[in-house]
Amino acid sequence: MADRIAHLSNTLLDNGYRLTRARLSILDGLVASEGHVSADGLADIVHESDPMVGRMTVYRTLDLLTELGLIRPVYQGSAAAHYILMDDGHHHHLVCSACNQVIEFDQCVLRGIEQIVKDHYQFEIQGHLLEIYGRCVDCRA
Ligand SMILES: [Zn+2]
Ligand SMILES: [Zn+2]
Ligand SMILES: [Zn+2]
Repeated sequence: MADRIAHLSNTLLDNGYRLTRARLSILDGLVASEGHVSADGLADIVHESDPMVGRMTVYRTLDLLTELGLIRPVYQGSAAAHYILMDDGHHHHLVCSACNQVIEFDQCVLRGIEQIVKDHYQFEIQGHLLEIYGRCVDCRA
């Protein structure tokens, strides 16, 4: 956990952002949430450890972290976006369209595609978030 926070903190510093106490509390909250949390959920977590951090500060910091590629919003149905911690550069989901279950999987098959994207589009990649959707084993039964 300390390693993840150090990595996130260093990315902020490397990009010229100050590591304020509020930002540090928000990074703490993100890592504590295991990297799947809504903005309001995160605001509640942060508020418990640091009541000085307001909701708007949490929203603004989420925007900044998204810009830096450290988190990505995902949208499921009409619910508020969830933020996924992308500090290791990639994340993969299987999403069931019937029951909305989200299954995490670690097998990465996209490194080759990243190289193709770099070569063909001169695109500087920050990471990838893969969502494969369909029907889970329970819903298929
Ligand atoms: Zn399902
Ligand atoms: Zn996930
Ligand atoms: Zn991957």
